[in-house]
Amino acid sequence: LEGKVQLQVELGITQADAIIFVVDAKTGLIASDEEVAEVLRSSNKPVVLAVNKVDSINQPGQTADFLRLGIGIPIAISAYHNLGIDDLMESVTALLPTTTGNPTQQADVKLSIIGRPNVGKSTLLNTLLGTERAIVHDAPGTTRDAIDVIINWNNKKISLIDTAGIKRHSKISSGIEFYSLIRTVQSINRGDIAMLLIDATEFITVNDLHIANYITEAGKSLVLIVNKWDLIPKAQQQQFKLYMDQRISFMAYVPILYISAKLKIKTSRVLATAYKVWEGRQILQSDSDVDMVIKQAFESHPPQRVGTKQLHIFKAHQDKTNPPTFVLEVNNPELSYTAYQRYLKKQLRSAFSFTGSPLNLIFIRFRNKKMRKLKESKA
Ligand code: GDP
Repeated sequence: LEGKVQLQVELGITQADAIIFVVDAKTGLIASDEEVAEVLRSSNKPVVLAVNKVDSINQPGQTADFLRLGIGIPIAISAYHNLGIDDLMESVTALLPTTTGNPTQQADVKLSIIGRPNVGKSTLLNTLLGTERAIVHDAPGTTRDAIDVIINWNNKKISLIDTAGIKRHSKISSGIEFYSLIRTVQSINRGDIAMLLIDATEFITVNDLHIANYITEAGKSLVLIVNKWDLIPKAQQQQFKLYMDQRISFMAYVPILYISAKLKIKTSRVLATAYKVWEGRQILQSDSDVDMVIKQAFESHPPQRVGTKQLHIFKAHQDKTNPPTFVLEVNNPELSYTAYQRYLKKQLRSAFSFTGSPLNLIFIRFRNKKMRKLKESKA
């Protein structure tokens, strides 16, 4: 349980733009406050320190102790009595970034290489850098030591995210595993495509699958790389591939590469695959093509009834790219269910090439023009 809570905290920190750290005035400063403060300080995220359960805001003595945490001036609040909340929110909003996303995007394809320590990330990076011309630069708007490398591949710019982090991973001790996970999640979030490396001699672990899931849920494309393939005897390779296909059967659309980063076997496929996956993320299919695929899918396999009602799809189109997002106009969005969504995604995949990318389906209620006009005139 502790591990799970910790994971939630780590993900929470990574995904936040700013953090409110709440401590308890009644208990005073305790050891775990200092532990959390240390984690927050190294997260490089803006933090506001709120001292809760201060019943009289004008008693500065109650918060002074918390200055020792080293994360700024404590703000006294009482969540129960609704005191000090305006001050708190003012401090928080002042810290929020004014722009979202990365305005100084310098590379075409943003790629993160991730995986457990010793799977061969640094070796792969060096192999990729050895064969291609690369420039190193500091990534704008990220932690000070996040270094991205831009590779010129077939006149396309491919940016390898957070290569400093990759190097540090190899000297990891369990004590700082925590920070390495934060870094992994940050790299995933900054990229479009994540290349998840696994060590062929260790098979794929539950943690690898968790990370794979996280990548997909974050809307990023995934390529699985089985490294150290040179250590698997020829006679066992076919069986290994079958095992891999089974293990990730729930993500059958994810490409799997079998390489040896050290011996440079099949490593040329790494960037080629990344680029192909990225291209798939960028394509906007025409409205009519998408509509046709979805309607054919519906006709050849209509959805099951939910109670007495059944989902009807009136119109479909691709709304966005990167990741591909589709809008389906239906009679009632609540009548769509997971298995049917999975089926529709499968049909979209077999019609178009979205290798490695998760697909988003958004169901909205269909309103025909007549109804819409009627509504507008009433409004
Ligand atoms: P990282 O911690 O993921 O960056 O892993 P490293 O790149 O430092 O590699 C860990 C160890 O695995 C090193 O001793 C590498 O030489 C070795 N290694 C990496 N790739 C391969 C490979 O393809 N085959 C073999 N046999 N060893 C490899």
